[in-house]
Amino acid sequence: MKPWSIGVFTSIDAGLGVPLHVAKELGVDTIQIHAPKPTSRTPLHVSKLLAQLSDTGIEATAVFGGFEGESYADIPTTAATVGLVPVGPRAERLEEMKRISDYARAIDCSVVALHLGYVPHDTSSADYQDVVHVTRDLCRYAANHGQNLHLETGQETAPNLVQFISDVGTKNLFVNFDPANMILYGQGDPIEALQILGSLVRSVHCKDAKWSPQPGITWGQEVPLGAGDVGMERYLTTLQAIGYDGPLTIEREIPQEPDRQKSEIGHAVELLNKLRQKLLGY
Ligand code: MG
Repeated sequence: MKPWSIGVFTSIDAGLGVPLHVAKELGVDTIQIHAPKPTSRTPLHVSKLLAQLSDTGIEATAVFGGFEGESYADIPTTAATVGLVPVGPRAERLEEMKRISDYARAIDCSVVALHLGYVPHDTSSADYQDVVHVTRDLCRYAANHGQNLHLETGQETAPNLVQFISDVGTKNLFVNFDPANMILYGQGDPIEALQILGSLVRSVHCKDAKWSPQPGITWGQEVPLGAGDVGMERYLTTLQAIGYDGPLTIEREIPQEPDRQKSEIGHAVELLNKLRQKLLGY
């Protein structure tokens, strides 16, 4: 894969991405896939997807897990419902992530990813240690498939994420950096965060957002790529500075407006192509 291969976040029957045929129409080289529901992970579905990827020449670079019962309605609801942090569904969700790791292996993808949730901040607390343990368990499972686990950014500040990854202490835990989430969740300037995370960043989202008037209390606003507060040239220049050469996966989370979603992602592809030409020369 060439450096900064342009990609898009896709969905089969779950999640907020575009359908695979739209990814093809957009002319991207790579996709991240939101894990389909268990009923769409059968061997038949797997062979169909592998055939589609082979026909289109598109490479799947990550499979993202998500769970029943998650809600991003507002920041407190997100904290209460998202990822492996909520205690009630934790064991069941850990099992589901392992099945998603199995699915990723079946489609020849070496990265699984997820929103882990709001990790407790008191690193000496039992709650924190429990989240460390569950993440380590999942990392070890993924490692047996030769996979890395990428944590989507947003819910943590960059220094907290570095600490957490170090505490988990496996060699296959990294970061899927989403600059817009840093703004949406109010967890710090995305460029500073990227510099802090550095070589831990192994996949990225290209998404844009505007700061909330009350960062960390209410959501910021997701906007088309280039129209927000990230600063795309600054973002890509910083990715270059930290040595990131993986895919640039565009995410635009408005599946309720598919025509607009496709058109805005099309503009994002153009913007990224232009910036890649300027910075990498192709
Ligand atoms: Mg994202």
